[in-house]
Amino acid sequence: MRRRLTGSIQSLPIKWKLMLGAALLIFLLFASYNFAQYLVLKQWMMKQEEDKIQVNMVQFQDYFQDKLASTNDLQIADSQLYVEKLTGKNQLVRILDKEGKPLVSVSNHFGVSWVVPKPVVIPELYDMTHKEEHILIYRSPLVSGNFVGTIELASNLETFDHFSETLLWVMLIGGILAIFISGISGLAISRQFMRPIRALASTIRSVKEKGLSERVTDIQNGDELSSLAKLFNELMSQLEFSFLQQKQFVEDASHELRTPITIVEGHLSLLNRWGKSDPAVLDESLEASLQEVRRLKKLVQELLTLTKVEANLLSESTTSIQVEPVIHETIKRFEVLNPEFEFVENTKNISDVMLLMNSLHLEQMLMIILDNAVKYSSITKKIVIEGNISFNEVQINVQDHGIGIPEADLPFVFDRFYRVDKARNREIAGTGLGLAIAKQLVLNYQGNLTISSRESEGTRVQLTFPIHYTK
Ligand code: ADP
Repeated sequence: MRRRLTGSIQSLPIKWKLMLGAALLIFLLFASYNFAQYLVLKQWMMKQEEDKIQVNMVQFQDYFQDKLASTNDLQIADSQLYVEKLTGKNQLVRILDKEGKPLVSVSNHFGVSWVVPKPVVIPELYDMTHKEEHILIYRSPLVSGNFVGTIELASNLETFDHFSETLLWVMLIGGILAIFISGISGLAISRQFMRPIRALASTIRSVKEKGLSERVTDIQNGDELSSLAKLFNELMSQLEFSFLQQKQFVEDASHELRTPITIVEGHLSLLNRWGKSDPAVLDESLEASLQEVRRLKKLVQELLTLTKVEANLLSESTTSIQVEPVIHETIKRFEVLNPEFEFVENTKNISDVMLLMNSLHLEQMLMIILDNAVKYSSITKKIVIEGNISFNEVQINVQDHGIGIPEADLPFVFDRFYRVDKARNREIAGTGLGLAIAKQLVLNYQGNLTISSRESEGTRVQLTFPIHYTK
């Protein structure tokens, strides 16, 4: 039963849970405060009644002591009038002799039989119930000369009981009202509290249905929940951006792959129709197809490299390497392949520099940059490679004197598949992926890659890396 109740409370919506919690808490606080207040008030009222009866007793004591001192013998009957005058409403006053026989008995709205007469030697004060009546009794010995007796005072606590009962009712009704008010305010608070969560949930639902462009809009108040919604929006923007980027990449890649495939297809159908009998067509088409297949192979290879570099999958074999020998070896390879070029190597300044990286990656970056310098230099075939240290960075500059890059194209040369003026580049082999790979590689090592260029004058590519340490 209890488990079922806990289960059904747990499965309630947060709004109701908050409301119930708030209502219960406020009720408990209110009820315990009220109950304590009720007890204190009741005690205080009882004390008032006791004080009152004690004051009465002192009056009677004084009166009878005086009387006994002057007459030396108590004429109790004489006192009847005086006692009647002093007896208040709902009260009983009795003077008892030594045996407990009432000598004087005055009652006002009070049943004489409700309290049994009882002589005492020491004072006693207590409350008791007789049937439905709640009675406060005070007995005190009266001793003077030969007389030994007891003064007995009794008060009906009807008014006191009535008052405390009313108080209890007021507090109970107050408690019920408190539950009601706390329930309503709990509901209002939880509604306010749940608003951003509901907005978040409905946005997530619409993202599921309509796509990544949906955002949470109702996030004005600046509390933790609205910063959660803001964070969610930022995350969605990031996701949307990378999703669009990925889509663009797939589109570009398919487009780039389609061109060589279409060319090969064209040549193959040409061969199929006429090439079998015409050796000239056969040779030309085979050569052209081979060239396109090689281009295709390079494109696929570079696409793979780019994907790996972007996922940063290659950085496990990072070690501390000396930069200068890697540069030197790479240049030497280019010299052998391009004997018509003059390579000026000026890297003495960085001969001691050590970098924390995979030497193959440094080689790969240099090869992309040097390959471009060679590819895009048609008249002045001179390439200058310099190494410098600036603050805590090493700079590697590759300067060519080739065709350069128009200013308008400069910001885009790091984009995937971007080639300056495709018509001009048609005869120069390339995929437009080289610089994108190089840039990503450099970023993977917290470095930077920048290009400055002037058309028809040349291009300067600068690589910078934070220095690990010098030898
Ligand atoms: P590609 O395979 O076409 O060389 P890259 O990403 O390496 O691809 O270069 C992108 C484009 O930037 C090139 O197509 C070329 O137009 C331009 N470019 C790069 N380096 C140079 C350079 N040193 N001189 C002139 N143009 C360059």
